[in-house]
Amino acid sequence: MVRKLEYDVVIVGLGPAGSSLAYHLRKTGLRVAGLDIVDWDGLWGKPCGDAIGEHHFHENHMPLPDGDALANRVEGIDIYSPSEEVKLRVNGKGFMINRNAYGRRLVEEAEKAGVSIHLKTYVYKPILDNGRLVGVAAKKEGEEIIFSGKVIVDATGTSGVIRRRLPKEWPVNEPLKPVDMNVAYRRIVRLKDPIDDPSYIRIYVNQEIAPGGYWWLFPKSEYVANIGLGVQGGRGYPHPKEIYEQKLMKRSDVGSQVEVYADAGAAVPTRRPANTLVWDNFLGIGDNGYTVNPVHGGGMGYAMHAAYHASRAIVNAFEEGDFTRHGPLWSLNIAYMRGLGAKQASLDIFRMYLQELSNEEIEWGLRNGVMRAEDAYETSVTGDLKANLSVLDKAKLLVKLLGRPSMLQELITVSRYMKRVKELYKTYPENPDELSSWVAKVEALYKEYKTKLNINW
Ligand SMILES: Cc1cc2nc3c(=O)[nH]c(=O)nc-3n(C[C@H](O)[C@H](O)[C@H](O)COP(=O)(O)OP(=O)(O)OC[C@H]3O[C@@H](n4cnc5c(N)ncnc54)[C@H](O)[C@@H]3O)c2cc1C
Repeated sequence: MVRKLEYDVVIVGLGPAGSSLAYHLRKTGLRVAGLDIVDWDGLWGKPCGDAIGEHHFHENHMPLPDGDALANRVEGIDIYSPSEEVKLRVNGKGFMINRNAYGRRLVEEAEKAGVSIHLKTYVYKPILDNGRLVGVAAKKEGEEIIFSGKVIVDATGTSGVIRRRLPKEWPVNEPLKPVDMNVAYRRIVRLKDPIDDPSYIRIYVNQEIAPGGYWWLFPKSEYVANIGLGVQGGRGYPHPKEIYEQKLMKRSDVGSQVEVYADAGAAVPTRRPANTLVWDNFLGIGDNGYTVNPVHGGGMGYAMHAAYHASRAIVNAFEEGDFTRHGPLWSLNIAYMRGLGAKQASLDIFRMYLQELSNEEIEWGLRNGVMRAEDAYETSVTGDLKANLSVLDKAKLLVKLLGRPSMLQELITVSRYMKRVKELYKTYPENPDELSSWVAKVEALYKEYKTKLNINW
């Protein structure tokens, strides 16, 4: 016997994306179901660096972490050059969170307000009726259940259990190339000695340790740290766990671990957003829609942002009774792509350049102030390359850069393409029928950029 349960909205996956959406929809009067394979203790269980900027909570109308959910307050980030002789301090408030406690709180509040929460529920396929997405098939403790809904949201992260099983001709079914993700691994450990300045999280850029990514040490308290690294996928680099054991454990700081509380690895998308987060009766948000910062791999705030706009789009769709891509659901795409998505795409251009730099080039750039701390912050907030090169008339820097003519030329190229991509995302089509021609323009622009910079992956 297959049980059938009927809702307005079915959210599959209750990580940062799905639970934020459930939280926003909890008081809308819609019949919402939230499904996840894990139980309460497993919520938000994906391995993560646990760091998130405070602004994400304010911008996306999310409760600030407190109590058990708050591990440490962050005042900024120290970015270290490969030699670790140059340190760029970027101030900006944020938090180290305990993901499970924060996620639980969202899901509990959603449930209290009437969202129907189904944990230990494994969703294995979408259900289509005459080509229309009408629900999902799941198994809950051995029982087969069909959850039907007018809007089905895939928030299952990189597994994309619904999206990947939708018809190939639906543009939401867009594959993620291994080179456009980071394979990451992290441990949460107690260290022998107290961490200096635990209100600053640390990022170490070093292509010999973390090729195409970085390694980090994020204090969760005076003695406890989240330490990990990400490496670019698809390039044949060793697995980050192996690097952790063979290289990081040799350091006196990382190697002084006295207890390991958690260790796990996972992949994170580090590219521009998926071309569309919306199709008929369907939304895909969070890692599922590749809504992640491509430079630092931070995806919690981006998932919250996509979830917030998804909630607006869903409410409007129910008001108008139109659940097709031609109706209000499409407004998620417009809001995301023309805003944060434009920044994300521009940062994707920057990411590809960074991944191609050698340790020597990174060291030189940081040592010579090509990118200053305030520029690094602005670049990550606006997606415009705010390197000193925007003020190339500053004679001193120009002279320095002329010592490296190829780097000067490359930086100018990167900056131009970042602007062009951002502009293109600001013209994201109002009408889904124009999506394919817009995508063709995006692909052509990326191709042109990669050819110019000789990036052949
Ligand atoms: C090692 C590492 C470090 C990171 N560090 C940071 C950081 O410091 N800051 C930051 O902001 N981001 C970081 N990220 C990225 C961040 O973790 C993700 O972007 C974020 O978790 C994405 O949220 P999500 O809800 O889209 O997906 P997920 O967190 O992956 O949640 C998906 C949910 O779907 C459920 N699910 C999956 N398949 C099914 C199924 N078939 N049926 C039912 N349920 C299913 C899962 O159980 C899970 O609960 C890091 C990622 C990694 C791998």
